[in-house]
Amino acid sequence: MYKNIPLAEKLRPKTLDEVLGQEHLTGNNGTIRKMLENDTLNSLILWGPPGTGKTTLAEIISSTSGRKFFKLSAVSSGVKEVREVIEDAKKQNLFTGKSPILFIDEIHRFNKSQQDSLLHAVEKGWIVLIGATTENPSFEVVSALLSRSQVYVLKSLSFEKLEELAEIALSRYNEEEQTHFTLKEKEALIQYSGGDARKLINSIELVLNQFKNVKEKEITNEDVLSVLQETMALYDKNGEQHYDIISAFIKSMRGSDPNGAVYWLARMIAGGEDVKFIARRMLILAAEDIGLANPNALTVANNCFQAVNVIGNPESRIILSETAVYLACSPKSNSTYKAIDAALAVVKQTGNLPVPLHLRNAPTKLMKDLDYGKEYQYAHSYEGNFVNQEFLPDEISGTQFYVPGENATERKIREELQKKWKGKYS
Ligand code: ADP
Repeated sequence: MYKNIPLAEKLRPKTLDEVLGQEHLTGNNGTIRKMLENDTLNSLILWGPPGTGKTTLAEIISSTSGRKFFKLSAVSSGVKEVREVIEDAKKQNLFTGKSPILFIDEIHRFNKSQQDSLLHAVEKGWIVLIGATTENPSFEVVSALLSRSQVYVLKSLSFEKLEELAEIALSRYNEEEQTHFTLKEKEALIQYSGGDARKLINSIELVLNQFKNVKEKEITNEDVLSVLQETMALYDKNGEQHYDIISAFIKSMRGSDPNGAVYWLARMIAGGEDVKFIARRMLILAAEDIGLANPNALTVANNCFQAVNVIGNPESRIILSETAVYLACSPKSNSTYKAIDAALAVVKQTGNLPVPLHLRNAPTKLMKDLDYGKEYQYAHSYEGNFVNQEFLPDEISGTQFYVPGENATERKIREELQKKWKGKYS
């Protein structure tokens, strides 16, 4: 009767104690455990990679707190479904007095107006919203929802936790199928899973099914690889390929090849990739690889990001294509990216160096008496709105973090800096 239920589903933890690798949330002092013990349930966002227990936790929260559970996926539902659930939830409130949980999987895929449709019901307390997202909620969740929710971060499962889970999955399989498999090696399975518990259990089920007729076998890395490679194309829609293709896309733009960029963009669009994910990557590339060689690139990429958020598919492809080609054809510089990393390295090395007195804020008389702000020279009082003074702590005076790149815009910047600083910074 239960034959068709995937092993990962059968193994879905039913209690906080069974959840692996999220002790900061589910352990004795874990925030979600405390929240349930104190019965102080508010709306929350679970942020973490796929297969780390977001849906599972939402279901446990619902059953432990005795609330009805509604689930929607932001990929396949919209405002209409949200409204229907909210109407249902309001009726539930009348019966039980406890507002139900509305779990929205992949909430980052909702655009602004879709997210806004949840707001009123959250404010009124008709529902407790639990949103799951694999993307940084500060970019993807509207601020009104974010400010009404607690964000909890889930981690990829560690090697040890995945080993533990592999054994659990193995014994459940053996029990149900009356087999006697053992896992001689687990590295291939674990590496392939990339910290995703669902992927690990699915792979184990897939591999063991291949040897079902022999009933007894020590499974090696080689067995795993041979089965997974054969089935990978069918099975791994969002796995390795996804990362390889986005990597090829970024590298094409960095390498100034608009044709490569458009080709890999097409591969992602044809594969159903989230357009916001693509736009976000371009936003990073604009700053990391183009930077001051063409500062307009960041503006274009940001406009693209805003635009795909309101446009969605299928038209977003046009906006993405314009941006990808623009970025690929822009001159390149990573000088500001290198500058901040160089400065961070110095901060790590030298710690909290004191702020030079003349640069300090001096809001009180006492501070003024202590010479805070004394001898600070106001740049606009000087010719050319510039005066040569020290802005770094003494210990690192003269350190050059920003080295202008070799491109038209930054050559001008370099000239200007040399004129002003007279050799202090090259
Ligand atoms: P997510 O919502 O984060 O993508 P799910 O909670 O739906 O992941 O997990 C999918 C399956 O993976 C579950 O049914 C369960 O078998 C397994 N799983 C995920 N996370 C964990 C975990 N932290 N501990 C144990 N099993 C897990």
